[in-house]
Amino acid sequence: MSTIFGQIVDGEIPARVVYEDETTFAFLDANPLAPGHTLVIPKDEYERLNDVPEDVAADLYATIHRVIPAVEEAVDADATTVAFNNGEAAGQEVPHVHCHVVPRFEGDGGGPIHAIAGETPDLDDDELDEIADEIADRT
Ligand code: 5GP
Repeated sequence: MSTIFGQIVDGEIPARVVYEDETTFAFLDANPLAPGHTLVIPKDEYERLNDVPEDVAADLYATIHRVIPAVEEAVDADATTVAFNNGEAAGQEVPHVHCHVVPRFEGDGGGPIHAIAGETPDLDDDELDEIADEIADRT
């Protein structure tokens, strides 16, 4: 069973499609946070960013790169917030990787990506070093 985005790619559910190529697809969000709020997805279904194979990830980035200026120009935005909710705990509702391209306007009352945090941690230097090492060991 396809996700709702798979059904949109297959044309089973209507959407306002703004770009399509062999591996990627972009369409307007049905509940826009701003005029021009666009979703960019791989056509094949992958739940999380790291499930996406590298070649498709490169295609996805190329489409994001292409869509951002198109969206900004179309709605005369001053900027865009570009983000993925990557996993349910991060707010991902549709389990098909999608990049939100949200137009931003001076004084629109929205916040930066930093606004996603609840309580922020107070980490000392040792803890920061340890976390950096743990990540570095895995990259
Ligand atoms: P998430 O919370 O998973 O990062 O975002 C899912 C997004 O998909 C939401 O912004 C929501 O408005 C959008 N969405 C959900 N269902 C549909 C749909 O059927 N069509 C379109 N165009 N967007 C949808």
